[in-house]
Amino acid sequence: HHDTPADSIATTCPYCGVGCGVLAAPGHVEGDHQHPANGGRLCVKGSALHETLEDTSRLLVPKVAGYEVTWEEAIDRVAGAISDSVREHGAESVAFYLSGQLLTEDYYIANKLAKGFIGTPHVDTNSRLCMSSAVAAHKRAFGEDCVPGCYEDLELADLLVLAGSNAAWAHPVLYQRMSAARRQGRRVVVIDPRKTATADLADLHLQLRPGTDTLLFNGLLVWLHDHGALAEDYLAEHCNGFEETLAIARSCAPSVQAVARGCDLAVEEVECFYQWFADTGRTVTAFSQGINQSVAGTDKANAIINCHLATGRVGRPGASPFSLTGQPNAMGGREVGGLANTLAAHMDYDTPGALLRVSDFWHSEKMARGPGHKAVDLFEAVHRGEIRVLWVMGTNPAVSLPGSERIHQALSRCQTLIVSDCVAQTDTTQFADILLPAAGWGEKDGTVTNSERRISRQRRFLPLPEQVRPDWQIIRDVACSLGHAHAFDYTCPADIFREHAVLSGYGNGGERVFNISALSQLSNQEYDELAPVQWPVTEGNPGAWLQTRRLFGHGQFPTPDGRARLVPVSSLPPGQLPGPRYPLVVNTGRIRDQWHTMTRTALAPRLFAHRSEPFIELHPADIAGFGLIEGALAVLRGPGNAGYVGRVRGSTGQRTGEVFVPIHWNGRFASSALASSLIRPVVDPISGQPEGKHGVATIRPL
Ligand code: SF4
Repeated sequence: HHDTPADSIATTCPYCGVGCGVLAAPGHVEGDHQHPANGGRLCVKGSALHETLEDTSRLLVPKVAGYEVTWEEAIDRVAGAISDSVREHGAESVAFYLSGQLLTEDYYIANKLAKGFIGTPHVDTNSRLCMSSAVAAHKRAFGEDCVPGCYEDLELADLLVLAGSNAAWAHPVLYQRMSAARRQGRRVVVIDPRKTATADLADLHLQLRPGTDTLLFNGLLVWLHDHGALAEDYLAEHCNGFEETLAIARSCAPSVQAVARGCDLAVEEVECFYQWFADTGRTVTAFSQGINQSVAGTDKANAIINCHLATGRVGRPGASPFSLTGQPNAMGGREVGGLANTLAAHMDYDTPGALLRVSDFWHSEKMARGPGHKAVDLFEAVHRGEIRVLWVMGTNPAVSLPGSERIHQALSRCQTLIVSDCVAQTDTTQFADILLPAAGWGEKDGTVTNSERRISRQRRFLPLPEQVRPDWQIIRDVACSLGHAHAFDYTCPADIFREHAVLSGYGNGGERVFNISALSQLSNQEYDELAPVQWPVTEGNPGAWLQTRRLFGHGQFPTPDGRARLVPVSSLPPGQLPGPRYPLVVNTGRIRDQWHTMTRTALAPRLFAHRSEPFIELHPADIAGFGLIEGALAVLRGPGNAGYVGRVRGSTGQRTGEVFVPIHWNGRFASSALASSLIRPVVDPISGQPEGKHGVATIRPL
């Protein structure tokens, strides 16, 4: 590239799970042509990265009770609060709430400190809000949380089904790859209650009633069976649970007519989708938050995977179910065990032998014995006063968790709230007793893993402000202050990465798929130069990444008997249904140019050009019906909340009776536009993921 600065460093975009490679230098970013995820492309958020690095909003010094302190004092205070609480109230009075924005090394060491040395199981992460339903579904179907496919499959598919995914806005570069790959006869089906930008790509848009995805896919399984379109041999040789799954599917979706009625679709539309699915061996179903963020998100994901297993379309070129992960390092967090129900290195508490294996490997003095509270429950435990010390790293739960009023109460009641962040003022930092200035993107080194299991380096290209420290170092110093120096004697992120890599292969006889043990031998320099690599990367086959693009294509699964499982799922209603008092269904989601709670993207003025303020999108018939005026302000109010104020936008892409609001605005920009205040904390009983896509409300002009 002719104007690439000579001092450019290859790193990875910190915004979404696509994980694009970026060449960055101070004041400059461009797409990295060498990176397999994006081949040089960037979306508007990625290409504005250098405009969001100014430091006026930065947290630059440690603070205790609002006063600037030295690092020594801050670390002492954190360690003191933890050890006092453990002594007086037990280890379970301490909790960590982590983030898919952390690097894998930060995540690993935080998880190790909490579960292995403080002895608290209460470690959860904002990834709970993102794809924990997909994690649970993968585990039920395959035995381990693995995405079987790779990005190339989205291009190779002759039928691309996008379920609950607005990839055009949420995974823009992947969407560009999908659009560019239009080949002769390729078809796209978009399953979404809204006509999103992604639906522009669709040959068929199934604008179904929210929450009826399981019905649609159960109906598909029945239809495929009744039309002789199942892979009988594959089912017999490689899968369990087909008969029960089919029976439940049939009781819930006895006919195409019943599916069409339940999903509020035309019979012809449903039949068209089913026929295309039956006819097309190379089918990928990519699913995202529209499936996951539901009280039945795990079941919905399994309903999709069931249809892929029953047709033998798992982990084959252009044929796979494909979970699109939201955050840049949500996958890295899954790998280290950063979820409350997981332990470490893709092992769960209930993985046979895992507890002993991990505590032995860590030389743990005080191992957490079983699963901890998942995000919503964790903050409830803070609210009840059971959790007294909470350490939040790199995330803004005051804005992002459902039922935000109650989260604010919990945060203000918390005995000691510790927040590590690179931003000084967020809705969460205002509640903090101890603030720790953490390094931001471009200032630290480590790895992230994207949606196709590809580990990439994030590299430092900016100087670290004097008083700012990378997360791994802050956690290490607290661990040492707590007396665990022998187990936390890391001098650099590579030390942590190597240990994580060793643990991934430790004592498991190669039974598990997540295994990067071949990377445990990297020297510091090799780690620094590490090229993007997909796991598994095992010792027997260290250069294996070309062969491990896809998993399970041979029909072998990491379950005790090596067979996959179809999971019987019935179609459950959403947690809250509209009624006379709250007649509207509320859907929430991203907009194209903002990220999460805007703490970084709001720094680039041009990212507001696309949507400049909070809005409420609804069908023109509802605008008239509720006495609203397009372009004027209105207030949406649901059960037990103070309301959400936004500008009315008419869209025929909305179903009537349903509204859409963006998730990004927060108390610093618009205190009356917290989308999370409209969402009640009802969760999927298996995954614990809250139902971000289905609230209820009424609306009136402001
Ligand atoms: Fe960054 Fe995602 Fe955009 Fe790629 S698609 S540039 S990873 S925000």
